[in-house]
Amino acid sequence: MVQTKIKVLFGKHPLESRLRWTGITAKPREEDYYKGILPVMEEILKRERNPNIMRFARTHICAECQGKRLNEKALSVKLWDRDISEFSEMSIKQIHLFFNENEIE
Ligand SMILES: [Zn+2]
Repeated sequence: MVQTKIKVLFGKHPLESRLRWTGITAKPREEDYYKGILPVMEEILKRERNPNIMRFARTHICAECQGKRLNEKALSVKLWDRDISEFSEMSIKQIHLFFNENEIE
């Protein structure tokens, strides 16, 4: 497949004409190659929860870690049969009770 790199301008309209506040330096319009819609959407989501992009976002539990956000190796470390994600879900009070009930030998 032949891929064509398309040079695009990004950034909003020329900022100087839109600025109503003083003391803000306008970032000049940049140009770069178009990276594809998903990287562009990800870039915007890093800055804000843009409602136009959130329409396409779905929440689902990761099949690999079951939403624990740790890899297999990290989750294999256990203390009294509990992994770090289980401790993370506990409140300070629960952890306090847990450690009072389970003494380290
Ligand atoms: Zn995961």
